[in-house]
Amino acid sequence: MVQFVCSKCGKCCKNFGQYIVIDSIINNATFYCTSKLSKEKFVAQVDKDQFRNFKNGREQSKKSNWCPFLRLDDVKPEYICTIYSTRPQICKDFKCSVMDIFDKNRKIIGRTSSNGSLVSQDTTLNNLWKEHIAPFMQSKDQKWLSRIKTILEEKGFQVLCYE
Ligand code: SF4
Ligand code: SF4
Repeated sequence: MVQFVCSKCGKCCKNFGQYIVIDSIINNATFYCTSKLSKEKFVAQVDKDQFRNFKNGREQSKKSNWCPFLRLDDVKPEYICTIYSTRPQICKDFKCSVMDIFDKNRKIIGRTSSNGSLVSQDTTLNNLWKEHIAPFMQSKDQKWLSRIKTILEEKGFQVLCYE
């Protein structure tokens, strides 16, 4: 297993937007909030080095219906969680993939989420998944990830599992 590295593409935080709610404003950088998915109450504090991004990107964030703390960085082409140090536990625990699947040329062709579903445009991989993996996933045990890895590697795919 290797450590999951987030590429800061922002996709998850754009979708989480509707579930992270600001309940009340303490000051211009501190907010009482709720994560509606996990029912977690938390105090969000804008990180000191992100205050400029937070302030400048407010309108874009609102218009796009993102998480209220997501911003596009004003220097690098990446998305930033401006409350990274105080983000809720559900965000700390989230990774968009528990396993990436590569073809023989090391090109990524599929990702697996923590619930065991496959996201892939590759027909061969999708067919293999349907035939050899989907049947035992209906009653998956704790070793499901390593079982999938073994099947895929036997069929010639390369696989990276994340902690
Ligand atoms: S966790 Fe995944 S979807 Fe979310 S920003 Fe990182 S790479 Fe993108
Ligand atoms: S709090 Fe941060 S990590 Fe969580 S959804 Fe919002 S921007 Fe993303």
